[in-house]
Amino acid sequence: MPASHDVVDEVLNAASADRYARLVGSVVDDLAARIRTVEQPFTGASRADLQAAVDAVDLDGPGQGNETALAEVTDLYVRNAVWFHHPSYAAHLNCPVVLPAVAAEAALAAVNTSVDTYDQSTVATLMERRLVGWTAGRIGFDDGDGVFTSGGTQSNLQALFCAREAIVARAAETGRRRTEVLPRLKVLTGASSHFSVNTAARLLGLDDDAVVTVDVDALGRVRPAALRRAIDQVHADGHLVMAVVATAGTTDRGCVDPLQAIADVCHGEDGAIWLHVDAAYGCGLLVSSTRRHLLDGIERARSVTVDYHKSFFQPVSASALIVREASDLAPVAWYADYLNPVANAEPNQVDKSLQTTRRFDALKLWTTLRSVGADGLGELFDRVCDLAADVHRDLADDTDFDLVAPTDLSTVLFRYQPAGMTDADADRLVPPVRRLLFDSGRAMVTKTVVEGRPCFKLTLLNPASTVADVHVVLDLVRSVAATLHQTRTLDSLEMAR
Ligand SMILES: *Cc1c(COP(=O)(O)O)cnc(C)c1O
Repeated sequence: MPASHDVVDEVLNAASADRYARLVGSVVDDLAARIRTVEQPFTGASRADLQAAVDAVDLDGPGQGNETALAEVTDLYVRNAVWFHHPSYAAHLNCPVVLPAVAAEAALAAVNTSVDTYDQSTVATLMERRLVGWTAGRIGFDDGDGVFTSGGTQSNLQALFCAREAIVARAAETGRRRTEVLPRLKVLTGASSHFSVNTAARLLGLDDDAVVTVDVDALGRVRPAALRRAIDQVHADGHLVMAVVATAGTTDRGCVDPLQAIADVCHGEDGAIWLHVDAAYGCGLLVSSTRRHLLDGIERARSVTVDYHKSFFQPVSASALIVREASDLAPVAWYADYLNPVANAEPNQVDKSLQTTRRFDALKLWTTLRSVGADGLGELFDRVCDLAADVHRDLADDTDFDLVAPTDLSTVLFRYQPAGMTDADADRLVPPVRRLLFDSGRAMVTKTVVEGRPCFKLTLLNPASTVADVHVVLDLVRSVAATLHQTRTLDSLEMAR
């Protein structure tokens, strides 16, 4: 930093507004130039090189000024980032982002609103509430409520927290104490549900075996009859069903649990069992004009997780927990004299959140809806689902590949197994092929295990990708796998790992 420079000039205010505009403008210009020319999803830099580059930065040294700092960031971070917009990125549930949301992100970072109490956020609180109401309406909750969260993990945690408090309160009516109830609580969910359900159970102080896995069908979806039996077993053991978690779009297969039949089972119970629908992935169906029916029954849930940063093409983070009845959020509230005293007529989102200071992520979705419309967003999600359907069709005709499982959404699970290759060889190829593609940076695919066997997985969340783009990735998998198999380098590769 030049000696004449006062560090206080770096605070964003009236005096620095012009420099702010130039600085952020130059960052955006650089990024635009990079995005125009990115040739593969990742540079392929080795972890050792990246670690050395990170370690080499002197964080205790004198300030270098914005220009140097940002040039360093470009070189270190931007250059080596993983680009989700690249058509050869097809690994995890990451989406490319839409322009209005990125523009809104720049606004909310600079204004730096915290959506906790009304007096810190004013209209932002009202806008977030409108969007919560909008999402609840799409779900089919007439008087729903909710709050934006950092992601599906937090949404699931909060949903299960509210479910736990509801059952503890019910037990208290018959004189049973929290400490008596907690060890008896069970959460029932399918084998393909997200691991955050297990993490939440642990965080909530439930027993180690509190999460009961319910049998699934050939597509990985909860079998309603098995759920029925599992509930009966919990009761026969003298335990209590705290919640049933259904998944609308499993992380692996993109399959939607049969929500109506599951809701029938939950509602059939005395006092009704808390049904939570984890729609972190499948929430895009809420705006789909062709597939909304897959969510039929979601309106009978008591709470729903939606990840706008997955199927609404929003920048991380943007997620929400939506509940059917506003009163279900009450256990989260804690009143502090300096913040939100009990006798407070103002709408304070902090009363509904596990967080206190909280980003105004809702602005991104707001801007997106106003820019492209709900139907426009739905069209984007439909495109990736249509793309996956086309790829599934092509794979069914391809003699080198085996399609492992169908999907309701946009995942593709497959194996490279040409005629004559043993299952064992096909299975062994999966990890090194994924690894070699990652190391090259040319294509990103991932792997998972279905019915005990490893397989490749593509998560197609790029509405701008074409079938030809996906074939580029598939052909890379094919050629790397064929080479490994033919040259029999697999054994040495495995030994080296
Ligand atoms: C991604 C995902 C989550 C976790 O959401 P984060 O936003 O990553 O915290 C939860 N459930 C399902 C089904 C998911 O796909």
